[in-house]
Amino acid sequence: MHFDLPMDLYEKREHKNVLETEFLPEFEAGNMSVLGVAIYVEDRYLPQNGLRVALDQIARLYAETAASKSFAICKNYREFQAARETGKIAFLITMEGIEPLGTDLNQLRVFYELGLRSIALTHARSNAAGHGGIFAATGSPEEGLTSFGHDVVHECEALGMIIDLAHINPAGFEEILSLTTKPPIVSHTNVRRYYDIERNISDEQIKMIGERRGVIGVNSILVSSREEESTLDRYVDHIEHIANLIGIDSVGIGFDFFEFIYRQWPESRQKELAAKFTTPHFIPDLTNHSHARNVTRKLIQRGFGDADIEKILRGNWLRIFKEALNGLNS
Ligand SMILES: [Zn+2]
Repeated sequence: MHFDLPMDLYEKREHKNVLETEFLPEFEAGNMSVLGVAIYVEDRYLPQNGLRVALDQIARLYAETAASKSFAICKNYREFQAARETGKIAFLITMEGIEPLGTDLNQLRVFYELGLRSIALTHARSNAAGHGGIFAATGSPEEGLTSFGHDVVHECEALGMIIDLAHINPAGFEEILSLTTKPPIVSHTNVRRYYDIERNISDEQIKMIGERRGVIGVNSILVSSREEESTLDRYVDHIEHIANLIGIDSVGIGFDFFEFIYRQWPESRQKELAAKFTTPHFIPDLTNHSHARNVTRKLIQRGFGDADIEKILRGNWLRIFKEALNGLNS
């Protein structure tokens, strides 16, 4: 439920058929059927070019999707079903950080019309809506959302957009839950029990999602602060921990594969990431979508039954789509 695809398509905008040549082989090898693809604007484009870069990311996603027979951008549950019936890989357009909206709620309506269906208010930084959790056990701002953040949440519910609690600081997390009624999601995160930083999710927060019948997607890149513990077994430990706390209906996949972007960066930028956030420890046999079957195999080895595995891999997210994507254009 989280992949930085539009950002990469934007950076490679001078090239054609990037989706087919660079991504499709991995998606097919991993038998992907649904991906949440996130509009995300890096610091270097903000604030002046946030809106333009976000719109260009969407433009590249539509152009690349139109140039291939293998993909469909889906805006409601019916379209996800149709994609499955025709063997296409379905994209849900998501947004990570509301920076492209500036402080203009009207822009949210525009993005909705362009197909945006899920929003996380912040990345690991503060913006006009609220504050992101930091990569340390404590220390992010104590306040929750701004009044603009409240407006965005209300408008999302009115439009029929999913609200994603990934990255938001603890105060914002609780505030969003108090403002909403639909099942919440955390598209990509890890449990603090195994990696105790605010960017991840505590047992109390996990229980709050469970009480509301939401779904938590397990991230592949922050399973441990230690390289030697960043393994497929530890990845499944995160799944198991959530399932033990709130049940098998509330855990899903949020891989957030990032190694392919990290690899493209010069060493100076990798060091910048380490200084600002953390050094990511990629799981050796879980660095891209072609490795997805390794998770399935591991779940079988660890004793999960077929029906539970189906829920983790696909069914739980589809339930959320069915319940949440029932807005204006559905
Ligand atoms: Zn993220």
